[in-house]
Amino acid sequence: MSKYVMVIDQRRCIGCMACIVACKAENDVPEEHFRTRVIQEVEGEFPKLRMELRSELCNHCDNPPCVYNCPTGASYKDKENGMVLLKKNRCVGCKACIASCPYDARYIDPRHGYADKCTFCSHRVAKGKEPACVQTCIGRSRIFGDIEDPESEVSLLLREHHHEVLKPAAGTEPNVYYINRILKG
Ligand code: SF4
Ligand code: SF4
Repeated sequence: MSKYVMVIDQRRCIGCMACIVACKAENDVPEEHFRTRVIQEVEGEFPKLRMELRSELCNHCDNPPCVYNCPTGASYKDKENGMVLLKKNRCVGCKACIASCPYDARYIDPRHGYADKCTFCSHRVAKGKEPACVQTCIGRSRIFGDIEDPESEVSLLLREHHHEVLKPAAGTEPNVYYINRILKG
């Protein structure tokens, strides 16, 4: 069994937004929605300012409220690889998952009515490829892999670096990890 995670190395992001463009093209994301974002945040007072570019996406949580609150079983956690995915034909568009996600990771696809989000490009991963955002990341700020493999790049990075997750107090147990954070968090 695998467990896929993403590591975001914050100091390597140059804010080029290629990840967002690649994600939209790969996954046919509707114009007004995003499966991943790069947030720009500034801390401090002039002239002592610090800026962080923070990639955000679905955290493929181990304790996912979107799955627990889905009344139809459309949202589920794949036990084979740890990804939180959607059975589109079961989704009734009730938005319970959107309301319960602390990360604003989901949207209703206006063309089809289901609650879509990042899938870690599961269709690509199934063919041995990386998610589109990872493959296109010029700075290699996004690293993807199997945390169950102790020799994978993500395992090595997480062993070697202090790492954080977003909103740990929410208790969702995210699987997107941030290293080399610039702001306090
Ligand atoms: S980030 Fe939101 S949508 Fe993704 S698994 Fe966690 S609760 Fe669900
Ligand atoms: S919108 Fe779809 S996936 Fe979300 S809770 Fe409702 S049925 Fe489940």
